[in-house]
Amino acid sequence: METLSAFDRRFPTEESCKDFLAAQRWLDGVRCPRCNRKEKVYAIKPYQWRCRNADCGGRNGYKFSVITHTIFQDTKIELKLWFRIAYFILTAKKGMSALQVHRVVFGEDSGHDYRTTWYICQRWRAAMKGDVMPLTGEVEVDETFVGGKAHNMHASRRKALALTGTKNKIAVIGAIARKGMIVAKVIENTDTAKLDKFVRQTVSKDVKLVATDEHSEYRLLGADMNHHVVRHSAGEYVVGTTHTNTIEGFWSLFKRGIIGSYHKVSKEYLPLYVNEFAWRLNNRKNSNAFADLIATCSN
Ligand SMILES: [Zn+2]
Repeated sequence: METLSAFDRRFPTEESCKDFLAAQRWLDGVRCPRCNRKEKVYAIKPYQWRCRNADCGGRNGYKFSVITHTIFQDTKIELKLWFRIAYFILTAKKGMSALQVHRVVFGEDSGHDYRTTWYICQRWRAAMKGDVMPLTGEVEVDETFVGGKAHNMHASRRKALALTGTKNKIAVIGAIARKGMIVAKVIENTDTAKLDKFVRQTVSKDVKLVATDEHSEYRLLGADMNHHVVRHSAGEYVVGTTHTNTIEGFWSLFKRGIIGSYHKVSKEYLPLYVNEFAWRLNNRKNSNAFADLIATCSN
């Protein structure tokens, strides 16, 4: 990402934001967000159109604007503020709470409503889903627990904990291709069915290696993948190319971010923070990250 002052120069006005949004949304010209057609779509005002396809909007046509069917819809919040807040979230490597964002955007004592900043932050995090292709190459899979010290527990206790579904602990599972992308999500529990399904949905069958710890819930993977286990309980951490250090690095960044910036995260919102951290990692070398995010959140 560019510097903040360069970003501000790129988006000095509402019009500059709307032009950018329209360009990311409609690469080949304005389309009706309801029927997805370009024909019979007429401009009525700046950034407003009417679709005249009879089966779409009826007699009066369907009226839409540049923000219809985007995350910006139904708010009167300036796009400039939305964009600026996205800039801070995208560039905060360790995460940034809505309160911190509010302070850098408005200063310490402003009359601006913190709830608006919070709302925008949450909408951006929800938008940071990003589709990831099935992972290939050398992949590490691991689960972690947020909200307690389960990560450091012995495997058998950890398993017992997962099975009893302790109220305060939330399980997160992730798969990362070394030097590549990560997929991570909150899961209800860490039983064999859930973990196995997650791996099969995120990892390509042609994967060169899947490395996990000795958690027995991964035992089915070997049936059709090159699955190798590192036995942490036996003091093993790296056996040849078998280790889970990359994903553990991500968990530690994620947890430090959660603790340092957000202090406490409820089960309801944790998926949003998982999105945010995974998205930032996946776009670390993407010079078009902001444009891609805008495109994602307007479709
Ligand atoms: Zn239409």
